[in-house]
Amino acid sequence: MKKDGIINNTATDPNKILPMKYLWAREYYKSGVANNWTPEEVSMQKDVEQWQSPTALTDLERKLVLWNLGFFSTAESLTANNIVLAVYTHVSNPECRQYLLRQAFEEAIHTDTFIYCCDSLGLDPDYIFNMYKTIPTIREKDEFVVNLTTTIFDPNFKTVGVSNIQQFILDLVGYYMIMEGIFFYAGFAMMLALKRQQKMVGIGEQFEYIMRDESLHLAFGCDLINTIVAENPDVWTTEFQDKIVGLVDKAVVLERKYALDACPQGLFGINAEQFCVYVEHMADRRLERVGLPKLYFKDNPFPWMAQATDLTKEKNFFETRVTEYQTAGSLKWE
Ligand code: MN
Ligand code: FE
Repeated sequence: MKKDGIINNTATDPNKILPMKYLWAREYYKSGVANNWTPEEVSMQKDVEQWQSPTALTDLERKLVLWNLGFFSTAESLTANNIVLAVYTHVSNPECRQYLLRQAFEEAIHTDTFIYCCDSLGLDPDYIFNMYKTIPTIREKDEFVVNLTTTIFDPNFKTVGVSNIQQFILDLVGYYMIMEGIFFYAGFAMMLALKRQQKMVGIGEQFEYIMRDESLHLAFGCDLINTIVAENPDVWTTEFQDKIVGLVDKAVVLERKYALDACPQGLFGINAEQFCVYVEHMADRRLERVGLPKLYFKDNPFPWMAQATDLTKEKNFFETRVTEYQTAGSLKWE
């Protein structure tokens, strides 16, 4: 029997995008287009001066810049690979695929940002782009996500049956909720804290644009999870829910380790523990977004992080919003 659905769709033509079934996916595409940017639009002049100056930055500030460039430079590519080599294969719905193509393009823009930063600051690319192998707290984060999701890269893998659909959801949990939704956020907070002190403002602005993109990516991923679960309710067992909560909890431990490693003594009155509290606050938001219970119950220690994206949201999102499409109703900006 032919079956319609966001995965395992055999009822409709994957190349026929109209009429659309998942209007929220189209809304993400329009929002992504409205956020268009490229790294070269941002001047690196001040950053270059500060990077070359013997006094503008402390050794600890330099370290956290390098650690974050190192982590993000390859995390973007791991994420892109997952979209193109795994998610796209199994989500054959055309409006979702249109957004996945947009997301993949944005990951290329993000990778381009780290090329631009390496070039502008004269950093050794081998040093930066190998940090996901050479720096243990970065390597552990990437390995955690990659190891969670190896099975679905098997060319014979199909999203058929409860256990395989759960495997596929674990991939989405790994890349959207954990990689983009948790592992990116200590770094975002550190780089934006630097920018607030007028340090490395060019990179800081690029990180703001990346964060704005990522907030859409991870919200799309969570909506994808929610839709798969709604259409395949058998997969959402108590055991499976507990497994996801446990994975988020483990990821938070790794992100705490990373934050304390990248920024051991804190920054401008922010102590290192506050970065960890911020990560816990974000982890709870990811859990809530897929209907799972919160773990940490921490207030956001950095309300200015929400403001940073709110400003750009008003400038670039709501003014250009297309209203004839149903909104996702839950587009979140951090
Ligand atoms: Mn990205
Ligand atoms: Fe992303």
